[in-house]
Amino acid sequence: MSVIKKRFELLKNTALYLRGTTAKERVEKLNRIWDGIVERKDDLYHAGMIERGVQPVDIAGELIMVKAEIDYTSKHLDKWIKPKRVKNTMFTLGKRCEIRHQSKGVVLNMPAYNAPTAETFVPMISAMAAGNAVIIKPSEHAAKSAKILEEIIHKALPENEAYVIQGGVEVAQELLSLPFNHIYYTGGNAVGKIVMKAAADNFSSITLEMGGKSPVIVDETANLENAAKKVAWGRVMNAGQVCVAPEYVIAHESISERFSLLIKEQMELLYNSENTGFNESKYVPRIINGRHTKRIKSLIDDAVKKGAQTVLGGGADLQDRFIEPTILKNMNEKMDIMNEEVFGPVISLLTYKDQSEVIEIIEKRANPLALYIYSNNKDNISFFLDNTSSGSAVINNNCIQAGGNPNLPFGGVGSSGMGRSGGHRGFVEMSNERSVVHQPLDKFRDFMLQFPPYSDKYVNMITKAIK
Ligand code: NAD
Repeated sequence: MSVIKKRFELLKNTALYLRGTTAKERVEKLNRIWDGIVERKDDLYHAGMIERGVQPVDIAGELIMVKAEIDYTSKHLDKWIKPKRVKNTMFTLGKRCEIRHQSKGVVLNMPAYNAPTAETFVPMISAMAAGNAVIIKPSEHAAKSAKILEEIIHKALPENEAYVIQGGVEVAQELLSLPFNHIYYTGGNAVGKIVMKAAADNFSSITLEMGGKSPVIVDETANLENAAKKVAWGRVMNAGQVCVAPEYVIAHESISERFSLLIKEQMELLYNSENTGFNESKYVPRIINGRHTKRIKSLIDDAVKKGAQTVLGGGADLQDRFIEPTILKNMNEKMDIMNEEVFGPVISLLTYKDQSEVIEIIEKRANPLALYIYSNNKDNISFFLDNTSSGSAVINNNCIQAGGNPNLPFGGVGSSGMGRSGGHRGFVEMSNERSVVHQPLDKFRDFMLQFPPYSDKYVNMITKAIK
């Protein structure tokens, strides 16, 4: 038996014990994780700096998401794990109907590289809260963070309850061949398909947290200065390696030229205020590796070759994993960037005249993870919300919906994902929602009517229900 299979079996053997643990015991373990995170926070800051050139405050933002999730879960878990009585209908009259949230068993969590701490712990908190054992396979592209996360987890929890297995694609594929009860995957949708197919072999349930091209609609009534600052920030933060980052803007033709210049102005104010170049700013992070830097630069070059104009940027330093914050306009559908997720600090600008064009542009692409609307007109906002689909939407801001409020379930739709994470919804995702009906055996409640030969009373009762 391979080492990975042995680990899986070990966790499987603990799953039944974990199912029987109390809310108090589970919360105590979540708090041990938090203590471990706090103890190693400087190491996590350092790893983030080396891997993506981000500031300690950026990693602290990730840690706050984890803390919010632990606090919220700790506060409510006692209530969540109690059987929940539900109302009766005519057909369940006299019976006691309830829903019990039972652990699924062993959960596999495979995070991506762009926010390794939050993507490791947020799903893990829900999985543990629901009483599951968890295996984590961190992203090999953020190996320094992955090592620290492994040390935190192995110090806080017994190895037969939560275990970290490091490795790349081969390790991921071996793990995916095992009969996990639930697989939680964060990453691109090409691998999402592989995960979904592998899950089918074992009928594992899945949560897929993927990406796509999240649009920003800016109408003629928007507060343009305000919108430009937020879009500039949303696109350059973490060097654009944010699943909900705005990928392209569709601006009304009456304001599009002005808006493009305002984003440019804001990118320069926020990330090149001393005019020494974006590469000198400590607030412009780096791309995770050379391969992705090259991929993003090729998307820019392909767009320019096919007629795009650069309002800003366009440059890169492959050696330094640096992509200049870039604004492109004059886009067309032949450009690869119009269909591929950039996951880098590059924004494309499109214009519209009629609202219907906006819907057409969005519908042409795969389902977005997020959609942003900048507008001061209620009717326009309703029209754009009602006629589009996305995992989440924000009006007059961007990126603020992810991770900050456990009352808001997070996830995608279609090619940007399935299932939800965070808060109660995350707990339910990792649970088997089991319906349990108790039949009392006294003659007033145990009617015994449905058995043949059917009585007239029973036939009348059923046929009358069909009107
Ligand atoms: P990645 O390369 O780190 O891969 C993610 C995971 O998949 C890793 O554990 C990796 O080892 C595994 N993997 C890679 N290739 C595999 C294969 N052939 N078979 C099996 N497993 C494999 O990350 P990525 O996919 O480049 O991540 C970036 C993407 O993640 C973007 O599309 C982004 O939008 C998305 N994302 C989504 C969310 C969300 O919550 N919806 C959050 C962050 C990132």
